[in-house]
Amino acid sequence: MIGYMKALQEIGVTYLGNVAQSMKMRLSYEHGTMTYCLYLAPWNMSGHNVCPKGQHCHEFCLNGSGQNKCDELARGIEGSKINRSRIKKTKLFYEDRARFMEILVHEIESKRARAKRLGYGFSVRLNGTSDLSPLAFRDPISGKNILEMFPDVQFYDYTKVYNRVKLMEQYPNYDLTFSYDGYNWEECEKFLQHGGKVAVVFYSENETLPKQFRGYNVVDANGYDMRYLDPKGSIMGLHYHKTANDYKSGKFVKPNTPFVIDLDSEIDVVWGF
Ligand code: SF4
Repeated sequence: MIGYMKALQEIGVTYLGNVAQSMKMRLSYEHGTMTYCLYLAPWNMSGHNVCPKGQHCHEFCLNGSGQNKCDELARGIEGSKINRSRIKKTKLFYEDRARFMEILVHEIESKRARAKRLGYGFSVRLNGTSDLSPLAFRDPISGKNILEMFPDVQFYDYTKVYNRVKLMEQYPNYDLTFSYDGYNWEECEKFLQHGGKVAVVFYSENETLPKQFRGYNVVDANGYDMRYLDPKGSIMGLHYHKTANDYKSGKFVKPNTPFVIDLDSEIDVVWGF
């Protein structure tokens, strides 16, 4: 792409997406796979809602964890440099899709070439902190969506939008893990019974996981992010990561929401030590 650096400068960001920016992606990297991941501003932070089913989870979103937890606690949600950069990227997605796609395609091509050169596997996660359909990432000239543009690349996402699971039948290079939000267990169960994987977030101070949750085996999904390698029909057990929102007057307060299973009080789990 001619003028890639200039385009980023004009937008005011250093990249759209990247590999190994977060702990989870670094773990994937250590397991031999470079994952290009895009982090947009979640829920309606940018003025555009990128999480159609985010009403029960946005307060506890991992956007406010990790490096951004420190940034938000120091500068506030609006002052956080990470949030400001994610907002710029999200606005670009809605306000100049052609330019967004040009940069996205360029970055995926260049990271894929780098992974190949270094002998790594390669995958793409478009929704690091959003829940958009991959069909919205479409080249305005050819009309092809991103999954059709890179048929040899493994794409994957987590979603709370049940209908989207149909995309896995249409596109063999797309893998989805459905996410429990505390209120959608019926959809989770339907997905599990059709051989799907369901992500559930667990909280416990010493980061343990149960053996089973509501009758389904729990797989530890914290070692890397390549969910497409995991056994189907299982619960993907994720540890809750404390976010800036959890600190009241400087003290951590346990999340009080059915989205996060509190292992001290939950009765539907089977422990296996
Ligand atoms: S859907 Fe995912 S990215 Fe969006 S607010 Fe909820 S947890 Fe965050």
